Amino acid sequence: MRQVRCNVCGSDRYEERRIEYLYGLKGRYLFVPNTPVEVCLNCGTVCYDAAVLKHIEQRFFAIYEEQQEPDRYVRMPEVVLA
Ligand SMILES: [Zn+2]
Repeated sequence: MRQVRCNVCGSDRYEERRIEYLYGLKGRYLFVPNTPVEVCLNCGTVCYDAAVLKHIEQRFFAIYEEQQEPDRYVRMPEVVLA
């Protein structure tokens, strides 16, 4: 999943990291706490792998169409800003 150049700054220095990704569509969400991404060491741009995003999207639709169970549920507090 290593890409040759950052499409923002042109740097070729990337590091693989794991981030907490929240996929959202029309008020429905899927939390993916261990998503692999490439981060540009020069400007900090986060680059998602297309195959990883596609997998997350497939799981999202399967879960909301009740064809699959999620691995677990999380509850999140919400804060509303005035
Ligand atoms: Zn960059």
